[in-house]
Order: sequence, then structure tokens, then C-alpha cells
Amino acid sequence: MTIRHHLSDQLLMAYSAGDLPEGFALVIATHLSLCDECRARAGAFDAVGGAVVEDGFCSMSDGSLEACLSRIDGLSQITPRPRQAKGIIPAPLVDYIGGGLADVKWRPLGFGAKQAILRMSDRGASVRLLSIPGGSAMPEHSHRGTELTLVLQGAFRDETDRFGPGDIEVADDNLEHTPVAEEGQTCICLAATEAPLRFNRLIPRLAQPFFRI
Ligand code: ZN
Ligand code: ZN
Repeated sequence: MTIRHHLSDQLLMAYSAGDLPEGFALVIATHLSLCDECRARAGAFDAVGGAVVEDGFCSMSDGSLEACLSRIDGLSQITPRPRQAKGIIPAPLVDYIGGGLADVKWRPLGFGAKQAILRMSDRGASVRLLSIPGGSAMPEHSHRGTELTLVLQGAFRDETDRFGPGDIEVADDNLEHTPVAEEGQTCICLAATEAPLRFNRLIPRLAQPFFRI
């Protein structure tokens, strides 16, 4: 798996500090289980966080993050080992789904697309699995807050780039996009949104409360 789109330092730091709603933490944990590069960076942030809390080893106020990271270079880094995945469903997701892809309780969205909302313990972000047939588009929409979309199978393209397996797209208020699943394999994504999406067309907007997207 060649991953081209990764998590920002900002998100990794917030994750490491435990500052994120469960929905975002789940998408990030799922990316980390697939991505050696981000897992190593997350390990470094965990070490920084631990050092700040436990020893006053380095503090963010007395230098740049790079300086801080270079000082902890010698520390052993705790890198979480990826647990066993179930098919295309990475380990962090297995408990939320109650198994693998065959256990997902899909609901139709029309035109062959379907989704499954995953239950979170807080309301900070809503999380869903999306299944979009190859060549089909998701409705065009903009965001009121941050949206994280992680590809588990297939690929999609939008106005910004192409996203394949393991890639994560971080979208914010400024992005209006129409993700389209690449021809061929059905695109399966895990998406977390901070606030309900604003759909630009009437019918999707009417359907929004019903589908809870
Ligand atoms: Zn990554
Ligand atoms: Zn979006």
C-alpha cells in the first residue's frame, strides 16, 4: 500500500494529547494502523507529550517542535503495533463494526451508494462508512467543520487530488468538493465530520436529516 496523503502534525498532536472527539480519534487510529510513517510521527508526539508531563524534559514554549523532537531522539519510542485486521477492515474499526466488511449494516443512499453510521460515545463528530460504486459521485457539499475521509478500498478523486487505499483527506470549511469513486472497484471510505454537511442541491439537503449525513 503506497500512502500519499497523511495526517497533519496538528492532528497528530491533538490525537496524542487526547483532545479529539472519539470519531476523529477513530479515523486517525485507523490511518495509523495502516501507515508506518504517521505511526512513527505519532510515537514522537507521544514521547514529547510524556516528556513534557513527566519530567519537564522539554516544553513547547522554550523552542520549536523540531528542537524538542531532536532532544527526544535518544528516547525509545513507543510505536503501537498494528493489530490484526479483518480483510479490508483495519483493527481499530473491527470493534465498532462488530467484525469485518460482511458484518457492516449498510443503508442505501440511492444510485448504489450506501452508508453505515458508527456509534460514538460523544457527539463531537459523526462517523460513517461509505460505499460508492466505481464511477459514481458523492453529492457535492461543503463543510461547516473538519471532515476526515480515509480510503479503505478503491479510490476517489475530487477537485484537489486522487485518494487511494490508506490515504486520508482532511477537508475544512473552505473546501467544496465532489468526490467521485474511480471506475472499477467500489470505493469504501471511513469518514468523520465535525458538523452536519451542507449539501448544495435541494434533494440531498432534504434527505440529510433522514440519512444523518
Ligand atoms: Zn500517514
Ligand atoms: Zn467532503
